[in-house]
Formats: sequence, structure tokens, C-alpha cells
Amino acid sequence: MIKIATLLILLLSVTMCFSQSVKKNGQLSVNGTQLVNEQGKAVVLRGVSFGWHNWWPRFYNEETVNWLVDDWNCTILRAAMGVEPKKAYLSKPKFALKKMEAVIDAAIEKDIYVIIDWHAHELNTEAAKIFFAQMAQKYGSNPHVIYEIFNEPVHDSWEEVKAYSIEVIDAIREYDSNNVILVGNPHWDQDVHLVADNPIEGKSNIMYTLHYYASTHKEYLRERGDYAINKGIPIFISECAGMKADGDSELDYDEWQKWIDWAEERKISWITWSIADKDETCSMLYKKASSKGNWKDEHIKESGLRTKEYLLKYNK
Ligand code: CA
Repeated sequence: MIKIATLLILLLSVTMCFSQSVKKNGQLSVNGTQLVNEQGKAVVLRGVSFGWHNWWPRFYNEETVNWLVDDWNCTILRAAMGVEPKKAYLSKPKFALKKMEAVIDAAIEKDIYVIIDWHAHELNTEAAKIFFAQMAQKYGSNPHVIYEIFNEPVHDSWEEVKAYSIEVIDAIREYDSNNVILVGNPHWDQDVHLVADNPIEGKSNIMYTLHYYASTHKEYLRERGDYAINKGIPIFISECAGMKADGDSELDYDEWQKWIDWAEERKISWITWSIADKDETCSMLYKKASSKGNWKDEHIKESGLRTKEYLLKYNK
């Protein structure tokens, strides 16, 4: 009996370790290029992104959040709110908020970090300001929340994205003075070198996103990342995966490993794309996977299995 009790306590403490990520690290901030916890120590968050809420809403629930924390060791999740497609935020805002809040509330309850991701490819400045002001008002007192204000600019210049970002940051800061804000940059978050040459000034706790798909983006993008870091730019990998940028090709395990090593050596947080069941290699689940977690290996595609392996290894 004593042995069983000891085992139970051990199991419980292992589970608590991931589910109490926020209790352990508290209010995050940015010191130089590093994300740090409330005690000022470097913190590296690792997790997964949900797919577009408008196409894969079935996973936006508390059970999936809990499963990704308890079984995959995620210390952060990213809720990706589709903005522009049909039935996404701009045309169905109530549905979008309902799905986003289900994940955000569950993540807070589970005491992990959560990214509120404006999953857009074009500028929608006024709508973004209204949305983020609302989110900051509702969630800004929770240390769990990180705002990602522009997933992946495609057509806009850095000057345009920069001007947009300053407006949205100001809208958030009216209600939330300190939570971390992630800023995008041109060409699907690959132009961090442009950010480095002309960064946003006078704002605290902001980081810049770098996205990679390992089979397309290789050494040259890591070099851009280093160029930016060396110029004082804090980097957060809010989206990445191991195949080509089309999201549907074979995994390049060697390049993916190089990226993981690159991020780990630099204490950069990373999030893999995505919890979805589309017929493509970057969607980590098969259609037979339950909407509420409890997935076995047979429900998870290659990309999901490797992601889970990385999370179990690094989020110890
Ligand atoms: Ca706050």
C-alpha cells in the first residue's frame, strides 16, 4: 500500500509540473532578447498550435487542452483565430470568440500559457484593435495570456506592419500594461532582418515571431534569426513544423532537428503547427482522432508523433 501511495504522489507531482507552468513562472516579461519569468530567469515555452478555429473548431475545447498538457507536456498552447476566410472572425465574430474563449479559459484553468493568435494574412487594423482591446480588458490580468497580433503578413511591407503593430500594441496597453505581445513581420514571419534594422521603439514586453517549415527554410533563415538576435531582437517561434512551407510534404527530420537545436541553444520558445485533421502532413491528427483528446499513436500522424517526442524530451 505504501508503495502504491508513493507512486501516486510521484505521478501527481509529474502531472502538476506541466499543469502548473504559470504557478511556477508567473508573470512573463522580456529582458533584452530573452523571455523571462517573474523571478527574472530565462524561460522556454514549448507547445502546439490549434489549427484555424473556423475549419477545425472541433478541437477547441477543455478536454483537448487538458490532454495536450497532461499527455503531450505542453506548457503553452496557441489558439489560432481565423480572421479572413468565410465563417471566420470578420463574418462570424460570436462563434470565433466562443471557440477562442473555450481554449483560453481552459488553459487558464490548467495554469499554462496561451497565445491569442490573430490568424490573418492581411492588415485588418480597426478590427484587430477592437478585438485585442476586448481580449486585454477581459484577460489582461491573467499572466497566462500572450497576444499575437498578426500571424503572418504576406503582402505588406515591414513599415506597414510596424505602423499597424504600434496601433494594436497601444490598444492592448490601454487595458494590459505588461503581458507579452508577439509582433509579425513580412513574408510569413521570415523578414526578421528587416525588423532588426528598424525595430519598434519605446514598447516593453514585445517579441517578434519567426516561422519556419524545416524542409523549405534552412540555414539562411537561421542566419537571419541570428542577425536579428545579435541586434537585440527577441525572437519567438510561434509556428513551425518539419515539412515544406506548403504544409503537405515529407518531413525533413535532419533540418527539423537543426532548428530545434538552434532554438534550444538560444533559449527560444517554439510552437508546432497544428492540431487539425486536414489531409496534409502538417495537420497532426487523423480524421478518426477524437475531438476531445485521448489520442493513441494510431490517431496521430508522423509530424504529431515527432512533436510529442520533442515535447516529452524538452518539457521535462
Ligand atoms: Ca497583465
